Amino acid sequence: MDLNSILNALVPSWNSVVTVLSFCIYLAIAGSILPGKAVPGVTLSDGSRLHYHCNGLLSLLLLVVLLGIGVRMDFVSPTVISDRGLELLSTTFIFSFLVTLVLYVAGKKSHDPSSSLKPHFTGNLIHDWWFGIQLNPQFMGIDLKFFFVRAGMMGWLLINLSVLARCIQEANLSQSMILYQLFCMLYILDYFYYEAYMTSTWDIIAEKLGFMLVFGDLVWIPFAFSIQGWWLLSNQVELTTAAVIANCIVFLIGYKVFRGANKQKHVFKKNPKAPIWGRPPKVIGGKLLASGYWGIARHSNYLGDLLIALSFSLPCGISSPVPYFYPIYLLILLIWRERRDEIRCAEKYREVWAEYCKLVPWRILPYVY
Ligand code: NDP
Repeated sequence: MDLNSILNALVPSWNSVVTVLSFCIYLAIAGSILPGKAVPGVTLSDGSRLHYHCNGLLSLLLLVVLLGIGVRMDFVSPTVISDRGLELLSTTFIFSFLVTLVLYVAGKKSHDPSSSLKPHFTGNLIHDWWFGIQLNPQFMGIDLKFFFVRAGMMGWLLINLSVLARCIQEANLSQSMILYQLFCMLYILDYFYYEAYMTSTWDIIAEKLGFMLVFGDLVWIPFAFSIQGWWLLSNQVELTTAAVIANCIVFLIGYKVFRGANKQKHVFKKNPKAPIWGRPPKVIGGKLLASGYWGIARHSNYLGDLLIALSFSLPCGISSPVPYFYPIYLLILLIWRERRDEIRCAEKYREVWAEYCKLVPWRILPYVY
């Protein structure tokens, strides 16, 4: 593809606008009416608590079934996303830009004194638009932060399924593509199965909703995380059996550490006495967990996520750095995130945090970092 055809393919069409809007409307309706657990979020600084309607898995499965019916009835093309990838990319980019402008203006007019809606300004317009001014803006009863991350994770799966459909149509389905698709699908389904755990993560409790987060959710997650799939559409890789087994092991270890660590923290926050790995937990200052994965490194969950990210790229072999974009990006993001979280926790927990750091000196990877 030359530069001219790339630029032409990037021009949004009405078709792509309708696709993106239909997806968002479906998510808003399904998220509001489908049954799901109401999960209380963390307590905010004004003592209030938001409740999250966790029905993402049901919304996703219903969407896949509806799209499957649409494909069977020739109403939707299974390759609609992979055929129009670039214009969908530019459409979601413009959409994110407009949404965050509206968020900024609406936030500015908000007089709600609750801590999640009270706007915080730095006086620098670009900074405030980029990082956001409200912690948890809502629209018609929908928590927008929860909504956008859900849209991003589902969008990623839909892109992958469309890439898979194109591969099958072109009779080009390889072992590498199957591995990549399988790992991502398990990761995304797992995300929605444990969607309630999301309510205690950094993005939800600490990050304001600005362009950075909306772009990250709507554009970055679906389009950048699926680079391996796009790359495999036009590149052939021969994997040995040993490479396939090693790849599966990296995924399984990564998953065990990632899910295990996040689960331990979630369980601990609900019940600080719940056993960890069959033993009473070691708790510092009554607040911080120092057993299980949280006694090995202060962010073992990041290590697990990084191994999973690597397992998404390994099916592409080592002939090109392009499919390694996601693990490299995640490494940088999580190191930066860990540093910011460290500052937040040091301020919040003070001497308790210092004691935890003494007991668990490793940040992400024991004996290395
Ligand atoms: P964490 O889930 O690790 O949350 C950090 C918070 O947990 C801290 O601010 C603190 O909050 C609490 N905490 C930290 N240490 C302890 C402890 N020892 N005991 C009890 N509580 C503790 O971080 P994230 O939200 O960043 O990550 C969640 C998951 O999402 C991770 O697995 C990460 O890899 C993944 N992720 C994936 C991304 C991607 O692009 N694929 C991007 C970002 C994250 P509190 O004030 O509540 O105590």
